[in-house]
Amino acid sequence: PLLINQLAAGEVVTRPAAVVKELLENAIDAGATNIEVHITQGGMGMIEVVDNGVGIHPDDMVMAITRHATSKVADVANLHGIMTLGFRGEALAATAAVSRLTLTSSHDNSGIGRQLQVAGVLDDTPTLLPVVHNRGTTITVRDLYFNVPARRGNLKSIATEFGHIETIVREVALARADITLMLFHDNKKRLSLSASTTHNEHNNRLSLARLEQAIGSALTKNAIEVAVDLSSLTQPSSEYVNNKSVNHHAGISGWLWPVRDQKESLPKLIYVNGRLVKEALISNQLRQLAQGAQLTGMGYALYFDMPTHWLNINVHPSKQRIKISPLNNVMVHLNHALRSKLKAFSA
Ligand code: ADP
Ligand code: MG
Repeated sequence: PLLINQLAAGEVVTRPAAVVKELLENAIDAGATNIEVHITQGGMGMIEVVDNGVGIHPDDMVMAITRHATSKVADVANLHGIMTLGFRGEALAATAAVSRLTLTSSHDNSGIGRQLQVAGVLDDTPTLLPVVHNRGTTITVRDLYFNVPARRGNLKSIATEFGHIETIVREVALARADITLMLFHDNKKRLSLSASTTHNEHNNRLSLARLEQAIGSALTKNAIEVAVDLSSLTQPSSEYVNNKSVNHHAGISGWLWPVRDQKESLPKLIYVNGRLVKEALISNQLRQLAQGAQLTGMGYALYFDMPTHWLNINVHPSKQRIKISPLNNVMVHLNHALRSKLKAFSA
């Protein structure tokens, strides 16, 4: 299992920022509304993510850092096969295999939690230490790659590695305006984003103020708000997710920033149901729209809300690529809405 975990680690834990990304996704999955990220030495000293999510029951803590599907890989020759499956249930195990990891969690309001430590190898009978901890989870990753010198040698400077971490945190901040996020580096506060109060019932639409905060620059005053209703493409239906009826909303919201003369670099962000994605068809279309409107450039932050049956997010292990099934229809609507907005801007 150690070999397997270290091999998996090579794919999942490519650098400190990759650990931060996985830990943030776990915190979000746990329903956290408040997340603190503490980093030292660009993540090479310590990465700590503190959340106020549902926590982990003491009985499940060992499971959480154990690779879930060991049966998937019979031997190393099969490894290529599992890579395409996307390493579900492997992030914590893979990280624990290449660092000194401490998992602390409390699943109730007793103020007491349990703590588990792993350094490369999990003991046969790991001890769960009772500790003071609020409801939620703290994961502390120290000395990343302490047992993989080659990896450690590949790391870039502290500033570069921290830059990657900051990018990841900003991306999460942009995806989820309903979460308060703080980022510290060597005990200095680097980002502090309070939850936006403007998100509506359908999505986590950002206020422009939070968007500017998260991107870290004053966006041009030319921001054009986008709101596209896609409800005509879907039946007014509901679906059961976790035994709860979820109403589907289909629409696109967000902002565009047209540029006419200067060549500044503007954010180009596409989120689908809260997940940052790379979708060439959408970005190409946006580029063509900008050209058609005689713009030298266009930044955008567009939030697509879609019924889950429109989506296939398993097309790539990184989960950044996504398939939208009625994409052509969606693009027709988006095109139509944006063209008139851009025309008004150019006029
Ligand atoms: P995955 O997220 O794909 O299930 P991970 O290795 O990232 O795999 O996490 C393993 C499990 O540990 C999760 O399924 C979850 O049950 C638990 N877990 C991890 N992080 C947290 C967290 N911050 N809060 C609550 N549970 C967590
Ligand atoms: Mg995970």
